[in-house]
Amino acid sequence: MTLTYDELAQKNKQFLWHPFTQMQDYLESDPLIIERGEGIKLIDVNGKEYYDAFSSVWLNVHGHNVAELNQAIMDQLQKVAHSTLLGMANVPAIQLAEKLVEITPEGLNKVFYSDCGATAVEIALKMAYQYWHNRGFTNKKSFITMDNAYHGDTIGAVSVGAIPLYHRLFKALLFQSHTIPYPYPYRHPDGEDPVEAMLAKLEALLQEKSEEIVGLIVEPIVQGAAGMIVMPEGCLRRVADLLKKYDVLLIVDEVATGFGRTGKMFACEHEGVTPDLMAVAKGITAGYLPLAATLTTDEVYGAFLAPYEEQKTFFHGHSYCGNQLGCAVALENLKLYDKLNLVEEVARKAEAIEPVLSELLTYKHVGDIRQKGLMIGIELVADQATKEEYHWNDRIGVRVTQVAREKGLLTRPLGNIIVLIPPLVSTVEELTDMIRIIGEAIREVTEGAVTTVHGEKTLQGSDAT
Ligand code: PMP
Repeated sequence: MTLTYDELAQKNKQFLWHPFTQMQDYLESDPLIIERGEGIKLIDVNGKEYYDAFSSVWLNVHGHNVAELNQAIMDQLQKVAHSTLLGMANVPAIQLAEKLVEITPEGLNKVFYSDCGATAVEIALKMAYQYWHNRGFTNKKSFITMDNAYHGDTIGAVSVGAIPLYHRLFKALLFQSHTIPYPYPYRHPDGEDPVEAMLAKLEALLQEKSEEIVGLIVEPIVQGAAGMIVMPEGCLRRVADLLKKYDVLLIVDEVATGFGRTGKMFACEHEGVTPDLMAVAKGITAGYLPLAATLTTDEVYGAFLAPYEEQKTFFHGHSYCGNQLGCAVALENLKLYDKLNLVEEVARKAEAIEPVLSELLTYKHVGDIRQKGLMIGIELVADQATKEEYHWNDRIGVRVTQVAREKGLLTRPLGNIIVLIPPLVSTVEELTDMIRIIGEAIREVTEGAVTTVHGEKTLQGSDAT
């Protein structure tokens, strides 16, 4: 029995609670209900097509309904869908682990699977903590994170999160983290170098407290949920060097930046950095199935090898660790990267659209455009000259993306920042068309008759990662 749009909409509102969504607004809206995907477009139950311009929250790589990826899942399904990785192995999990070790920075030799970005981060944190404890450094108890960091929504990941809107409410539940600034050149006070300011704070903290610090966690090169903030060149390298000097682990969260988004397979490669631990997810299965991994070095892994009686085992695992369907589709995904020379293509296409993007800077309410590869954030401002921010109640990002949706493009804002993170296979022509739609939506909302509507309740949605 096929349900009509109205029936689906009614049941959706009756039974579902959507993530990162103010349901009171949502209940008043006409919900978007996706039925299928073709290439880089999603198609709703009424037949309307949309560019998936945020890759279904930063996941999608080759578009939707890709023959090779579909086939990889069907082939695996003929064998087995899932068996546990607790003390036993499976074929695609082994093959994918080998491939991940091959494509990640030199020195990351061990793969621990999980199922989403937050779990990959949790594992990195617990592994790093236990690494020190297994070696007898029991004073090492806290982490360093950076302002506006986002590492997922579980309590451990929130403990190293630093976006007040999402994280401050849960403070009483969290373990302790030290927060240092993240360089944000567009909003940094004049006369001070944001990188030097951050490094000075980091070094002062390390001098005072390195003996109690497990590691520093960072979204390398691009801080995603904070608003696509791009680190100035050389910054990550210098952070890595400082941590080494003070014997503190470097944990990189490549959940958003990994698998080619920034124009390198992993963002760390921009600066030749090998972390001690790396969390990956999202693009690993090209947006097909929930799979994630935490990679680490022989050094970290070695600290867990001990006689059974010593109980130095990593007592952590999830039901779906190393799921065969996920691993099979990830392997096929990575084959397609090679076949399409995809990472180099991302770098080439990113450069090709730079001039198209920078035209938006001539718009009255576009303050800053940040781009690394195909991770793009367009910051809207109430006043270009003073960089005055739009008020939360203006819902400026929500309104722009709502108009974009009407024009056939899907994305989610991050506050006043419009996100463009398209599937990596998007062509320059398609990317140009997406930028055109986003530009039109920005103009209509920010330069239309009403630009400030504090308190107005018109559109659904809220910010989400
Ligand atoms: N880390 C980063 C840098 C992310 O951007 C995200 C999600 N946007 C996560 C972790 C959490 O990933 P997940 O939603 O798969 O748990």
